[in-house]
Amino acid sequence: MWDSNSPYHLPKLRAVMVSYADFHQLPSVKRRVMESGLHKSLGIPNRVKIYLDNGAFYFSSRAIIINHQEYEEFATLAQPDWKPVPQDFIPTPKMGISAQRHCLNRTMLVNHAYEHDGFVPVIHISKVLSEYITAIKTNTRLAAKADIALGAIVPHLLRMPKAQPYQHTLNSIREVRRSFEDKELHLFGVGGTATLHLAALMGMDSVDSSGYRNRAARGMIQLPGSGERTAIELGSWRGRAVSTAEWKKLRTCSCPGCLLNGRKGLRALGVQGFRNRATHNLWTLLEEVDWIKKRLRDKTYKDEYVNHLDNSIYRQLIDHVVNNFI
Ligand SMILES: [Zn+2]
Repeated sequence: MWDSNSPYHLPKLRAVMVSYADFHQLPSVKRRVMESGLHKSLGIPNRVKIYLDNGAFYFSSRAIIINHQEYEEFATLAQPDWKPVPQDFIPTPKMGISAQRHCLNRTMLVNHAYEHDGFVPVIHISKVLSEYITAIKTNTRLAAKADIALGAIVPHLLRMPKAQPYQHTLNSIREVRRSFEDKELHLFGVGGTATLHLAALMGMDSVDSSGYRNRAARGMIQLPGSGERTAIELGSWRGRAVSTAEWKKLRTCSCPGCLLNGRKGLRALGVQGFRNRATHNLWTLLEEVDWIKKRLRDKTYKDEYVNHLDNSIYRQLIDHVVNNFI
């Protein structure tokens, strides 16, 4: 999708994120990346930025402590355009406040150890978010950083047991935006259309998503202004099927996958189907970003989002943000 010679090229794709967890599991690829850098070894042109994910979610969920020096060496030789500190400890909503503070303390130790230039500090949406903000602000070197990454939004938006009410999560994101007005904020793990709207409305500078690929692998496609739909039932994955009216609309989709293979490409099996759906999904998200940015620029978002977005569970959140924050 980043290769301008590929029929699946997406010219609007300006950045990709790769995870250290993947390289950790593939030593020979890791070695190659360390020899010639991420751009060259993955064949990604320099105009497409590479963000490195430290793999915290993967490592945390398996209780793996990674060697920080190894990560530092990898991140230095791989030369990504953006790299977070080696490890952060992600609090889950079901943790009590003391366990969440323990995650904060462990994460801040790593943030402090990487105060020197180049590594982006990570903070988490949690019950102790304001302590994170104070800890960053009161440290001269951390406060001077140009970027901050904000994690742990996913479990809160997925409504895990004991997740904060949605509005708390939104207020937390706003608190971070207001506290660090001069910084580029990256929000980890924002998957679908509605969360993309929320991130843009709340002034996030960048987000990442693996949702477009995961959905493609499960036979699901993304539609403009709406949630995902099942184009083809694969394995045991089930979801809301694409309606007749939606299939009709998809006839005019101008993503590279649909232009090349039509709607039957979205229903294809195997790698061919995955490729068409993943391209279609990412193209749809990139178009959605353009749609949002243009309306925010023209100040027409408030008038137009109501007709553009369907009534998903997130719609009331977007109403809340539009009515209170912008
Ligand atoms: Zn398409």
